Amino acid sequence: MSNKVQSLSFRIIPERFHSQGLTYRHIVFLQGCSKRCKFCSNPETQCIIDPFKCPEVAMSDRDVVGVLKKYQHFLSPNDGGVTFSGGEPLLQPTFVRSVFEKAKDMGLTTCLDTSGHGNPRIWSKVRFIVWSAVRAK
Ligand code: SF4
Repeated sequence: MSNKVQSLSFRIIPERFHSQGLTYRHIVFLQGCSKRCKFCSNPETQCIIDPFKCPEVAMSDRDVVGVLKKYQHFLSPNDGGVTFSGGEPLLQPTFVRSVFEKAKDMGLTTCLDTSGHGNPRIWSKVRFIVWSAVRAK
């Protein structure tokens, strides 16, 4: 694993998640979105930044999996797992896929919160999704 997240405001937060039943999830907010919605609740994620120019704040997929491992004992028995949001996570499908693969191996559920960016070629890169929330924006 060597992919880097494009992120300056990357953050992971634990959250109770109700829309698929009550589970506990780690929400990973990825940097970058081109839609510029006026109602965006995370406008700080809209900038697309090269993580190799800001390595001090970039996280690798290995970093994210490391965080998930710390909470695996709690998440796994409760249908919990990882959710990618943003920003638009489908701007970084290879990264998302890499983390989802590892999360599935750890017995965690995976969810994608997306505006539906891209095309079938991009979507085919992101496998291992248990739930997805596609929002029209
Ligand atoms: S698609 Fe989502 S992340 Fe992107 S600008 Fe709109 S609300 Fe914000």
